[in-house]
Amino acid sequence: MIYDFLVIGGGVIGTAVLYELSHYDVSCALLEKENDVGTACSSRNSGIVHAGYDCKPGTFKARFNVRGSRIFPELCAELGVLYKKTGSMVIGGADSLADIQALHERGKINGVYTEILSRNQIAEREPNVSRDAEYALYAPDAGVVTPYKLVIAYADNAVINGADIFLNAEADRISRDSGVYTVTAADGRVFFAKSLINAAGYAACKINQAANAEEIRQDYALGEYFLLDKRESKNINTVLFPLPDSRGKGILVAPTAEGNVLYGPTSTPVTVPDDYAVTAEGLKNIRDSVGRIYEKANFASVIKTFAGVRTVAGLDFIIEKSKKAENYITIAGICSPGLTAAPAIAEYVGELASEITALGSRKKYVNYKEEEASGIAAVRRQDSVEKINERIRQNPRYGHIVCRCETVSEGEIIKAIHSPLTATTVDAVKRRVRAGMGRCQGGFCTPKVIEILARELNIEESEILKNRKGSKIVIDLS
Ligand SMILES: Cc1cc2nc3c(=O)[nH]c(=O)nc-3n(C[C@H](O)[C@H](O)[C@H](O)COP(=O)(O)OP(=O)(O)OC[C@H]3O[C@@H](n4cnc5c(N)ncnc54)[C@H](O)[C@@H]3O)c2cc1C
Repeated sequence: MIYDFLVIGGGVIGTAVLYELSHYDVSCALLEKENDVGTACSSRNSGIVHAGYDCKPGTFKARFNVRGSRIFPELCAELGVLYKKTGSMVIGGADSLADIQALHERGKINGVYTEILSRNQIAEREPNVSRDAEYALYAPDAGVVTPYKLVIAYADNAVINGADIFLNAEADRISRDSGVYTVTAADGRVFFAKSLINAAGYAACKINQAANAEEIRQDYALGEYFLLDKRESKNINTVLFPLPDSRGKGILVAPTAEGNVLYGPTSTPVTVPDDYAVTAEGLKNIRDSVGRIYEKANFASVIKTFAGVRTVAGLDFIIEKSKKAENYITIAGICSPGLTAAPAIAEYVGELASEITALGSRKKYVNYKEEEASGIAAVRRQDSVEKINERIRQNPRYGHIVCRCETVSEGEIIKAIHSPLTATTVDAVKRRVRAGMGRCQGGFCTPKVIEILARELNIEESEILKNRKGSKIVIDLS
């Protein structure tokens, strides 16, 4: 089959673009190197939907951040993705007023509403902000989202509406003949398309090179985190930032959409863009920094550390139709606020795509609500006992709780495995229904999840992976 559009890379940008294209009568597909979508930068971030006051006016970052943050509430409601409008505060000490005012003015230029708060106003909103705080820039429109759920929802919806997603498909070689691109994957599979969209994140430079498109340079910065138990969420409602510096927005304290708390991220230049190991120095840096903006730092409640790697290409995002490679769009350097900007970037890439191939009018779209397949736990918790009992009567597997920390049932896990984009690993299940996301981090439920995965996928338990290639959990000694 020759697709009209082939997207390379299944992070939030690639899946958002695929979702956009799948609204039209064009054939489209996506190649993702890993065994699930959204496992790289797009699931390893702060999950903040930034208001957009701080981006340099006139840049793609400013334009797509502001538009993206406005799209988020409705988009997440439509897709059944958890989003909370929490507001954010940039916290400053006695000598910070000029910096806070400068951010406030920049917000005005970007069309973003912010307020400058005094010490008492800060304490009224967030009693646990550092006692050294004298001023804060409050942005009521900021929010938090579960980033990997957005990626999965984009992917599931695109698939339901006719797009193809190929996992474990690392685009390797690219050639073009008689107006058709041939993309050969590392495992030898071959894909054909009239147009290519490079959304390969950290590997965007490599893909451009393979396609003979413009040369781009990307740099990388590791961002490390502590994730805290849900019991800490009672102490914080708003996303708290320090004053930004040349390396970025700084080490924040934030509630997550699912009710945990995050401390981080660091920002350390690295050369390997897909190594997610945390470092002792990075974690120490967070421990030393959090107290500057937050009084209630409690490292005894940490349940996990993790890291992501930002991809930066100069001062702005690169989103352009190639002048060298025909029918080719580059999306590169999508660092923060790329998650927030994703829906708006997808709209813009849709416009660029329509200059290549007429997309026509939007087709009738089937809206696949994410909570129909996953996130049922969240919905179920708000259900009445009668409703829960009725569901269990209809399918007793909804009464069999597998993950005790997050109260996730076998029924939900099975449904997640068989969602439009099949979940095949322990972490793919975890991202969809939160089995293993709680306080014990899968200590109790992992063996049961492996058993269910093996049964549902009809493979041996020893073949089930935790996440990436090679991450086997069960070793067959026979
Ligand atoms: C620490 C940190 C904190 C952040 N916090 C925020 C935040 O709070 N708010 C916000 O708005 N933004 C935030 N961001 C930025 C945001 O996460 C990114 O902008 C966004 O995730 C980029 O998405 P992407 O799809 O471009 O990249 P990725 O998610 O990296 O996706 C690229 C995909 O391409 C795949 N790929 C690579 N090579 C190939 C190949 N050859 N063939 C096929 N597939 C390939 C990869 O496996 C990957 O899945 C943060 C980023 C980091 C690292």
